[in-house]
Amino acid sequence: MPHPRDAHSTSLIEKICTVNVQTSEPFDAIVVGSGMSGGWAAKELCEKGLKTLVLERGRSVEHGTDYITEHKAPWEMPFRGRGDRQAVEARQFRQSKAGPFNAYTAHWYVDDVDHAYETAPDGDPNEVLWVRGYHLGGRSIMWGRQSYRLAPMDFEANAREGIGTPWPVAYDEIEPWYSYVERFVGISGEALGLRQLPDSEFLPAMALTGPEEHCRDVIAERFGRTLTIGRAAILTQPHLGRGPCHYCGPCDRGCTAGAYFSSLSSTLPAAQATGNLTVRSDSIVHSLIYDEEQDRVTGVRVIDQVTKEAIEFYANVVFLNASALGSTSILMNTKTPRFPDGLGNQSGLLGKGIMDHHFKCGAVGDIPGFDDVAPYGNRPNGIYIPRFTNLPWDSSSRRDFVRGFGYQGGAGRRNGWGRGAGMPGVGVALKENLQKPGAWEFVMFPFGEMLAYDDNYMELTDEVDQWGIPIPRVVGGLKENELKMREAMIADGVEMLEAAGAENIRTFDQPYRLAEGIHEMGTARMSDSPETGCVDRWNRVHEIPNLYVTDGAFMTSAGCQNPSLTYMAFTARAVDHAVESMKRGELRV
Ligand SMILES: Cc1cc2nc3c(=O)[nH]c(=O)nc-3n(C[C@H](O)[C@H](O)[C@H](O)COP(=O)(O)OP(=O)(O)OC[C@H]3O[C@@H](n4cnc5c(N)ncnc54)[C@H](O)[C@@H]3O)c2cc1C
Ligand code: SF4
Repeated sequence: MPHPRDAHSTSLIEKICTVNVQTSEPFDAIVVGSGMSGGWAAKELCEKGLKTLVLERGRSVEHGTDYITEHKAPWEMPFRGRGDRQAVEARQFRQSKAGPFNAYTAHWYVDDVDHAYETAPDGDPNEVLWVRGYHLGGRSIMWGRQSYRLAPMDFEANAREGIGTPWPVAYDEIEPWYSYVERFVGISGEALGLRQLPDSEFLPAMALTGPEEHCRDVIAERFGRTLTIGRAAILTQPHLGRGPCHYCGPCDRGCTAGAYFSSLSSTLPAAQATGNLTVRSDSIVHSLIYDEEQDRVTGVRVIDQVTKEAIEFYANVVFLNASALGSTSILMNTKTPRFPDGLGNQSGLLGKGIMDHHFKCGAVGDIPGFDDVAPYGNRPNGIYIPRFTNLPWDSSSRRDFVRGFGYQGGAGRRNGWGRGAGMPGVGVALKENLQKPGAWEFVMFPFGEMLAYDDNYMELTDEVDQWGIPIPRVVGGLKENELKMREAMIADGVEMLEAAGAENIRTFDQPYRLAEGIHEMGTARMSDSPETGCVDRWNRVHEIPNLYVTDGAFMTSAGCQNPSLTYMAFTARAVDHAVESMKRGELRV
């Protein structure tokens, strides 16, 4: 009997791999979610010989052909690319608050009516902006590709400062796994040998612009700080069958060349090539099936997004990669007599301590000169200034807050006709001016570390969505440490711009909502014991040896670096651990 959802399946992956799941044997492994971390779990499990089922709640997406706005000009778009305001206000009133949301990317962001969550009212300091992409590939299609390792000091900070839960792993243990994933992903960047920002396995770096080189030299000389090109999961040379970047610019619409890393361009095709992969999209995982006698999860309960049919799938090991809040919802929605408050919640900490990187403040200024210098193409990358505050080995870096921040941003020319609105002049003279390249503008755009606070949390409400799944409530916001840090994030940016001779320096400090950095993490934190966290040093739920959580939920602290590379490294390590455990017969159910 054909599966009811075959009618909806258009994906090449699915055409090749879909089996009649209702009559198939149990799988060796189930991966919940096909985004950044789920793609890695699938690749590693399949390459290690496990028959693996990936369950994705959203629609199928075909790499390339489904990047429907990739090469669209404004005049080919409805409303000249300005977006359908009424539709957005009706269905994407939350997602559209995310900075990268626009008419060209709106189809990657969820519908806020269908995928509702409760939070504090608009403008309230506890309002949370939970930005999601529910489709094959998840947010790996939408991401900004900035890729940085955490440093030894990041893994040590909680224990050293007595803040939050100590990490049960050290940098040295993760270091080989960073290298392992980087060699596959392809990270372009510059090796610097910094203690606060370990180097990756780099492809050649992209070039800085002239004013960026100038600022780099000035801030190195004046402050002893480093400015480098962003470390990005974007290819600068051919790599494992993917083409290099041609600097066209609008990456978040999708990249048919596969020049940036995503599940669709990279990990899922690798998994597919093994013949061990089955992908089922439109499959919303409702909860886990737990067998008390065996003390194992035996599978998952799924609601078909389209038909609303309930189906169960079975496997020896389950990986949760539904994104931090998504995986935590699944754990919370699995209540058993032994775990009445949800799996992995013996500590009572499940859902607590949501972290993100706070931003939306900084400084901008015009860099005079460099009139004869032009940027090369639309470089899909910016600068990075690694953390320079509160470095454990440098007492002169101490501030009145803990941890620190790194700057992104960079210098570009203010080109285009739009700038004419703010320029003096009229008529021919104004038009002639607008045809010339504009001034160089340098933006200092910092991302700051957030600590884990119990009152930044999620929980499940009694209300259910159309698939019978409880709607989460998510609340939280900035506290004193982050607010103090923001003052420094602005002031230090101004100081560096002034030193670089910038003119017309402006600062900005806009209201930030928790999770708006789209790096939400920490709701099933890693810890030494079930009393202090949810997963163990191998990403296994403490009480359940065949259940792994390897998306951002496991993060015990946030660092200030963009986190996805760390999720990838821990995922590859966790799969290795699971497969070794299976070989020893420890996971069979
Ligand atoms: C615009 C933007 C810019 C970003 N820039 C960066 C950056 O520069 N650097 C960086 O490190 N990070 C960046 N991020 C964050 C990055 O995308 C995430 O950290 C990363 O995708 C998280 O991986 P994940 O596997 O946890 O979740 P996702 O990639 O979100 O994947 C989760 C998947 O699980 C599926 N799912 C959810 N619930 C269920 C369920 N119940 N059943 C089945 N499937 C389910 C979802 O549909 C989704 O496909 C950015 C994100 C966005 C949106
Ligand atoms: S700028 Fe590079 S990575 Fe981005 S879409 Fe263009 S080719 Fe792809």
